[in-house]
Parts: sequence; structure tokens; C-alpha cells
Amino acid sequence: MSALADALAAAYRRLDDAAMIVASAGNLSARTDEGMVISPTGARADSITGAAMVPMTLQGTHCGALLPSSEWHMHAAIYRAFPAAGAVVHTHADACTALACLGERLPPFHYMLAEFGGDDVRCAAYATFGTEALADAAVAALAGRSACLLASHGMICHGRDLDAAVTTALRLESLARQYLLARSAGRPKLLSPARMRAAHARYRSYGQQPESPA
Ligand SMILES: [Zn+2]
Repeated sequence: MSALADALAAAYRRLDDAAMIVASAGNLSARTDEGMVISPTGARADSITGAAMVPMTLQGTHCGALLPSSEWHMHAAIYRAFPAAGAVVHTHADACTALACLGERLPPFHYMLAEFGGDDVRCAAYATFGTEALADAAVAALAGRSACLLASHGMICHGRDLDAAVTTALRLESLARQYLLARSAGRPKLLSPARMRAAHARYRSYGQQPESPA
């Protein structure tokens, strides 16, 4: 557990270094046999440690001196809904949040949208932060996807492990920034369903080394 908690603290600092978490506006967790371990409420990058991470069940029972992130419902609901999710990252990163504040999805303006599992990244309906209603809205928007925006709030994503979830968050923020930049200069051309199908097919073989000769 302590190695996982230390990895969570390192990932929190990595997101802070990338300006993905500003003044505690973000949280992250990893799945455990008992449920999950999650960053505490009011975490700060300059003082976060593995010892501050909060082990808890997916039903909300936690132990330790600190209270879990106020968004623990959203993290727990994602682990319950998506068995392949090994880690969850939630932030108010600028570009994702700007788009979410327009109440818009991230459309297929770039082939890399395929990385998130579909042809777009949806924007979940608004619900008050920290509620089960927000957790339900996020799970619905994540169907078939590894990431979604949260209306007038931010973004949330999951990955098979902590490194994958952090990478997904960084990539989504970069794409959201590129989309807003393109939109500020004109009307981005969207890729057709056929072009996105081809991108998905390409991704299925992308990054796989051919089997080494015997
Ligand atoms: Zn939030």
C-alpha cells in the first residue's frame, strides 16, 4: 500500500508541475483490493506525501487521520462501473474546464480523439460537486470512453494504472487546448466517421512491436 500511496503523491506532484492542478483543484486515486486509495481533501502539491493518502472502500468507509477528497463518490462510482479502471484522475485543468464551461464536448477535430475510446469526449451534465448525482453523470458520459468533461467544472479520466490515467489527463488537456486554439482562429474541420474508424483501426495495432524472431 505504501508504495502505491507514494506513487499517488508523485503523480499528484507531476500533475501540479504540469499546471493541471492549481491550488488543490484536483484529486486522484488508485484501485486496491479493499477499494481505493485517494488523495485527501485540501491536498497541496508542496506538502503531499504517501502517508497523507486515504485508503477507503468503494462504499465510503475510510480510515486514517485525513478525510478523503470531496469527490470520492465520483472515483468510487468509476471503479464500480468500469472493472478495467485501475486509477482515476480529476482536475480543473484550464482548457478542459474552459470547454466544459461552454457545456460542449470535444469533437473529432483530431485523430487522437480515438485514444479515449470513441469519436469524441463527452461533456457530462452539470451536478453539484461532491454529490452522487455528479458521480452518476460522469459514469454515463464515460460509457465506452476513458475520459469526459464535467459541465461547468472540469474533467475526469481513468486508466489501467496511475501512469496511464495521468497520461490520459495530460493528452486530453493538450487536445482541448489545441481545439480551443483552432476555434479561436476559425472553424475546425471535423473528421468523418469513416476517418475516425480508420484511426481506431490504426490505434489497435499502434505501438505494438512485432514478435521477436525465435
Ligand atoms: Zn472538481
